[in-house]
Amino acid sequence: MKNFDNIMNFTLSEDEKMIVEQLHDICQNEVIPRRAELDAKEEFPFEIIAKLNEAGIPAAQYPAEYGGLGIDGFVNTLIGEVLGEYCLGVCTAYSATKLGALPIEFGGTEEQKKKYIGGFASGKYIGAFGLTEPNAGSDVPNLRTTAEKKGDRYILNGTKQWISNAGVADVYSIFALTDKSKGPRGMSCFILEKGMKGLSFGKLEEKMGIRASHTRQVIMEDVEVPEENLVGLKPNKGFIHALQTLNGSRPAVAASAVGLAQGAYKEAVKYARQREQFGKNIINFQAVQHMLADMATKLEAARLLTYRAAKYSVVGHPDTAKFSAIAKYYASEAAVSIANDALQLHGGYGFTKDYPIEKMYRDAKILTIYEGTSQIQKNEIGAYIIKEAAHLK
Ligand SMILES: Cc1cc2nc3c(=O)[nH]c(=O)nc-3n(C[C@H](O)[C@H](O)[C@H](O)COP(=O)(O)OP(=O)(O)OC[C@H]3O[C@@H](n4cnc5c(N)ncnc54)[C@H](O)[C@@H]3O)c2cc1C
Repeated sequence: MKNFDNIMNFTLSEDEKMIVEQLHDICQNEVIPRRAELDAKEEFPFEIIAKLNEAGIPAAQYPAEYGGLGIDGFVNTLIGEVLGEYCLGVCTAYSATKLGALPIEFGGTEEQKKKYIGGFASGKYIGAFGLTEPNAGSDVPNLRTTAEKKGDRYILNGTKQWISNAGVADVYSIFALTDKSKGPRGMSCFILEKGMKGLSFGKLEEKMGIRASHTRQVIMEDVEVPEENLVGLKPNKGFIHALQTLNGSRPAVAASAVGLAQGAYKEAVKYARQREQFGKNIINFQAVQHMLADMATKLEAARLLTYRAAKYSVVGHPDTAKFSAIAKYYASEAAVSIANDALQLHGGYGFTKDYPIEKMYRDAKILTIYEGTSQIQKNEIGAYIIKEAAHLK
């Protein structure tokens, strides 16, 4: 029986404090000067990821036995939060690797973990996670990609839609049906490597936001995957691997939403302090202070929900799925609302590229869509409410 006492302690360890500081430095020196250009040119942030690798940030995200530093998994929340504050595009481009790593961390064999988690921890590999398909977005059970066993290989056929890092990633965690008769319970996760015959990528999607993150289709035409690349070597375990991944990754997305909201809020306060109208700085108008107060309240509520979900996820608390959904839903909607109000406080200047808030506003919207839309999070929360209602006294 696990002990869940004292898990809600949000005091940062010395390691965590050091990583946060280091990340702020990297973001101020590398991300701020480049983010507008990466956005305009829809350019993948290879150089920034190289700096993060150099600083050992990926190592901080994995266990010591696979080349990581073995720090508490809560550090992933802090990394998402800091990167999200400066550029959600860079944050998504960087974090999609961890998303691709999670099914292997949860379900992989020792050998798979040594090779792939080791490669992610050292920064050798960029990763990607392929679950969504053109006709299976929220409706994951409608998955069509197949994996047919032929001798010591699986033959994969199908198309994955909206895959972050597709085309740039070296390693792909791809979900496919190994037993169609079982529906989603007949799904398995496979590790594909760039360069495998029959594996190709669609056009670069032209997005309204997070443009430094590259999104493409992953197309599989008779891709031969050796059976040792079936995660955990046992077929039909993919549904569990996907659920475990989402429980772990939703707090991370919520953290990036908290980061974006923090960035937008700071921009709003800075602008309101220096913009003068009617003979005073606009921060002195009570209506403006009330907007900022609402933003600050939503931001802090989002942060607390996110930290709780992340702590639950790290220790494997039985209510992780519920609190991950609550945190992802609230933090992403809060980020959209805070970015909207922050832009409003910039007036006409906020509607131009002269201030970073214009990009933050465009970037924020993806947060309520990827890793499960707000409606899907609410469906999950609703399912918990029904389950818990049976035990209400
Ligand atoms: C930029 C970007 C990056 C992404 N990265 C990845 C990635 O790396 N890997 C990956 O696997 N996927 C990725 N996705 C896919 C993402 O998770 C899906 O887009 C998302 O889950 C929604 O699926 P959909 O786009 O098909 O929308 P749909 O499922 O078609 O939803 C359309 C609308 O219907 C609503 N809806 C659907 N079903 C219900 C329901 N039962 N109840 C109430 N409302 C409902 C939705 O909330 C939404 O508002 C990415 C998407 C984008 C846009």
